Amino acid sequence: MDIKNYINGAFSPPVADRYIDNYNPSNGEIYGQIPNSDAQDVELAYKSAKNAFPSWSETTIDERSRILIKISELLEANLQRFAEAESKDNGKPISLAKTVDIPRAASNFRFFGNAITQFASESHESVGINAINYTLRQPIGVVGCISPWNLPLYLFTWKIAPAIAAGNCVVAKPSEVTPMTAYLLGEICNEAGLPKGVLNIVHGLGTSTGQAIVEHPNIKAISFTGGTQTGAHIARVAAPMFKKLSLELGGKNPNIIFADCDYDDMLATTVRSSFANQGQICLCGSRIFVEESIYEKFKTDFVAKVKALKVGHPSEKDTNIGALVSKQHLEKVIQYIEIAKQENGKILCGGDRVTVKKFEKGYYLQPTVIEVENDECRVNQEEIFGPVVTIMPFTSDDEVLEMANKVKYGLSATLWTNNLKRTMRMSNELQTGIVWVNTWMLRDLRTPFGGVKASGVGREGGFEALRFFTEAKNVCIKY
Ligand code: NAD
Repeated sequence: MDIKNYINGAFSPPVADRYIDNYNPSNGEIYGQIPNSDAQDVELAYKSAKNAFPSWSETTIDERSRILIKISELLEANLQRFAEAESKDNGKPISLAKTVDIPRAASNFRFFGNAITQFASESHESVGINAINYTLRQPIGVVGCISPWNLPLYLFTWKIAPAIAAGNCVVAKPSEVTPMTAYLLGEICNEAGLPKGVLNIVHGLGTSTGQAIVEHPNIKAISFTGGTQTGAHIARVAAPMFKKLSLELGGKNPNIIFADCDYDDMLATTVRSSFANQGQICLCGSRIFVEESIYEKFKTDFVAKVKALKVGHPSEKDTNIGALVSKQHLEKVIQYIEIAKQENGKILCGGDRVTVKKFEKGYYLQPTVIEVENDECRVNQEEIFGPVVTIMPFTSDDEVLEMANKVKYGLSATLWTNNLKRTMRMSNELQTGIVWVNTWMLRDLRTPFGGVKASGVGREGGFEALRFFTEAKNVCIKY
């Protein structure tokens, strides 16, 4: 299926008529073409957004809210179609797309459709000098949203929904690896009555389309989710233009397991936090640290559970692990397994490609558990972003805290313990933007979401996102 850009409410081919192939990761075949848009297409998208802005920014909060909630309802009504498209484009099990990706994309629109009705600003009375200050929260204008391939519609809408709720108009680019559900979203927006030009979607490579969005002098804010290297590049391009930036980047998250935890709950959740979405979630706990007294038991039980996971075609109901997103990514992950072997890592299970009958060219890999000797080896420090985790024992709170923090990333951490004192100390001292205690990826959309260190700058979620997508203006009146 070939796709088009969505500009000013219409579907149009790229000006230069250049395309790139879209692959189906489950069978390695090309199944469509997507526009490789350049600066000319981004300019068209920008103009359409600019023209829509005066009216959209003056549209009542009630009306904006109504349209966002309508988009949410239409996504829910089209759940099956969107889930199938996401699964085919990305390789993820359809069960996951159906229960997580698409419902969550719908929630993003509903959540921000409601949140905007509650968003308020402060006023400050300057007592004794007869003056009052109040803060306006004004939409920025035209903003850019750029998203990755791992949770395609989920993360795309996580940016777009707050941007348009706050009264901005958007030029957005999904990952060129997984463009399909973003394409389908255009139809839904038209059906929901979103005015033309409020949302414009341009498809293409990061280095051409994405770069043109970041370089555009009048796109005043960029909300980006993707790799740390790309984030650093975007920051360099955007800084001289003083753009507002929100960067959600890579992670290498610790999963810290103490002997005093609820063992069965921890074990089941750890299988999920290691391998959900083929390990391709920025929040996956890819470094597992286990208290020495339960280390051997954990190792045996965990490996047994991982070996029981079924790697298979994404459309099959009992598939736990689908295909990795692309050939290049599969090769990168395999390379890390080789690096682990060179570093004396012990492969406890997995490590090899899987051939799925009738889909021999698909990008399948066994879920892989590597026992490492020290926490400073490359597979323990660098983001792999695939179905690969490391495990190693620890003996004290101080030791594990030091190892947990000794990486350049700081997105999230998971802690398994029933000791309150330990919970409080660890969650205070872990250098991450998010700490989960006795759970993983339990999301409340009102909470701040994002990382520290090389995992990014800024926070998404709740009012944080609405603050990012507005400019605060102080008005001081003397009376
Ligand atoms: P990526 O950085 O390669 O690409 C992300 C997006 O940026 C894509 O749309 C891409 O086309 C675009 N892009 C690439 N070069 C660009 C440029 N020069 N200018 C503008 N845009 C450009 O990342 P990816 O491989 O798609 O995604 C995987 C990465 O995303 C992992 O590192 C993962 O940890 C991270 N991620 C982070 C979060 C988070 O919330 N922190 C969530 C999901 C994924």
